Amino acid sequence: MKKENVDVLIIGAGPSGIVSASYLHTQGIKVKVVEKSVFPRFSIGESLIPQCMDNLEEAGLLDAIKDYGFQKKFGARFIKGKEIGEFDFSDKYGAGWDWTWQVPRADFDTLLAREAQRKGIDIEFAAEVVDITFTSSKSITIIKNKQGDFKKIGADFIIDASGFGRVLAQKLQLEAKPQIAAHSSIFTHIEESNRPTGKEGTQITFEVLDTQVWFWYIPFSNGVSSLGFVAPNKWFDEFEKDPSSAFKGMLNKLDYYKKRFDKEKILFPPVKVENISKNVTQLFGDGYVLTGNSAEFLDPVFSSGVSFATSSGLLAAKLVQKQLNGLAVDWQKEYVDHIKKGVNVFSTYVKEWYTGNLQKIIFHPNPNPEIKKQICAVLAGYVWDESNPFVKKHDRILKNVVRLIDMESPEVKKNNLF
Ligand SMILES: Cc1cc2nc3c(=O)[nH]c(=O)nc-3n(C[C@H](O)[C@H](O)[C@H](O)COP(=O)(O)OP(=O)(O)OC[C@H]3O[C@@H](n4cnc5c(N)ncnc54)[C@H](O)[C@@H]3O)c2cc1C
Repeated sequence: MKKENVDVLIIGAGPSGIVSASYLHTQGIKVKVVEKSVFPRFSIGESLIPQCMDNLEEAGLLDAIKDYGFQKKFGARFIKGKEIGEFDFSDKYGAGWDWTWQVPRADFDTLLAREAQRKGIDIEFAAEVVDITFTSSKSITIIKNKQGDFKKIGADFIIDASGFGRVLAQKLQLEAKPQIAAHSSIFTHIEESNRPTGKEGTQITFEVLDTQVWFWYIPFSNGVSSLGFVAPNKWFDEFEKDPSSAFKGMLNKLDYYKKRFDKEKILFPPVKVENISKNVTQLFGDGYVLTGNSAEFLDPVFSSGVSFATSSGLLAAKLVQKQLNGLAVDWQKEYVDHIKKGVNVFSTYVKEWYTGNLQKIIFHPNPNPEIKKQICAVLAGYVWDESNPFVKKHDRILKNVVRLIDMESPEVKKNNLF
C-alpha cells in the first residue's frame, strides 16, 4: 500500500475543510485534503450570511470568488399569510459585513477548492476515508480511490470537516442527541422562465406555512432557483411517496408562492434529507478536531451552516497551528467553549422560531427599530458580539420581548413599542 505523511490531514473539501486548509497552508504547514466526491458536486446550503465573509477573507479565499457574479444577498424576507418581516443587513447593530451571496454550492465549493489548489494545497478528489487509527502521537488514515486502490496517510493532526459524512462521529461513536427536534427537508432546483425583475426576483424569501413548517426560495444569478421545505418529520407523511408528486403537493400549500413555480422545469428529482439536526458528544480528542457539519448542525432556518462551518474551520486551524508550533492548547476553552457560545445563540433563535416566539417578533407590524437592528446582527451571523444584548442575553431576551408584545393593546401595537 502506498504511504505518505503530512502535518495535517483534512477530511472533506467543503467550505469548512478548505478554509482550514487555506489558513494552515499560508502558515507553512503541510496539509492534505481528501475528498470522496469529484467537484463540481451538488451540496445544499446555498444562502450565506454576512459573517462568513470575514472567515473567507481571513483564510485568503474571498478575492477568488468575489468577481464570479454570484447573486448578492443584502437581507432576507419572511412571509406568513399577509404578514411580512424584512431584514436589511445594512441596518444591523454593530460592525461587520452587510451583504453576502446566494450561491449554487457546486460552483461555490469548486471555486474555493480551485483557489486552494492554485495556492499549492494538495486536494485528492475521489478519495474516501475508510478507516483511521490513532496512536499516541500520530494517526494513520486509510483512503480508497475510485479504482479501489488504498493508501495510508500519516498525520500529526486530523481536521474532520466531512459534513454529513460524519467520519469521526461514526468511527469514534460520538453521535449525540440533536439540539433541535426531528425535522426533515426536501428540496430541488428549478429553472425560472418568468422570474420577476428587481428585488422580487433576487431576494431570498422564507414563507411560513405553519409555525413548524416553512419554505425557502433562493434565486441565483444564473436563472436557477432553489426551493425547499423544512418541517417536522411527520408533516411529510401527508404527501405522496414519489418525491416529485410530493413536492408539487407541497408547493400547492403555499400562499404567497402558490402557482409561481407550477410550470417551471424541475432540474432534479427533489431530494429528501431526514432528521437534519446533528450533534456530537465531543468536538476534539488527542490528535483530532471536528469542524463544520461533522461537528454540529442545527437547522437551515437562519442559513447559519456555512458561517458556522467556516468559523469553526478557521478557529480549529489556528489552534492546530499553535499546537504544532509546540504551544499548549486548551481545546475545551479555546475551541469548544468559543464555538458553543455562537452555537447556543443560534440554537436559542432556532428553538424560539419553532415555538413561534421569534415569528411573533419578526412579523410584528411596527417593530422597535433598535431591537430589529440587534436581531438583524444575529441573523447576519454576528453571534459572538456580546455587546449586542440579543446575543448576550439570548436565553431570556426573546421571551421577554414576546411577553411585552402579548401585553400590547391594539392601540399600542399600531404605534408600536414592543
Ligand atoms: C436542508 C438543508 C438546508 C441548508 N441550507 C443552508 C443554507 O441556506 N445556508 C447555510 O449556510 N447552510 C445551510 N445548510 C447547512 C450546510 O449545508 C452545511 O452547514 C455546510 O455545507 C457545511 O459545510 P462543511 O464544509 O462542514 O460540510 P460539507 O459542505 O458537507 O462538506 C463535507 C465534504 O466532506 C466530504 N466527505 C464526506 N465523507 C467523506 C469521507 N469519508 N472521505 C472523504 N470526504 C468525505 C463530502 O463529500 C463533502 O464534500 C443546510 C443544510 C440542510 C440539511
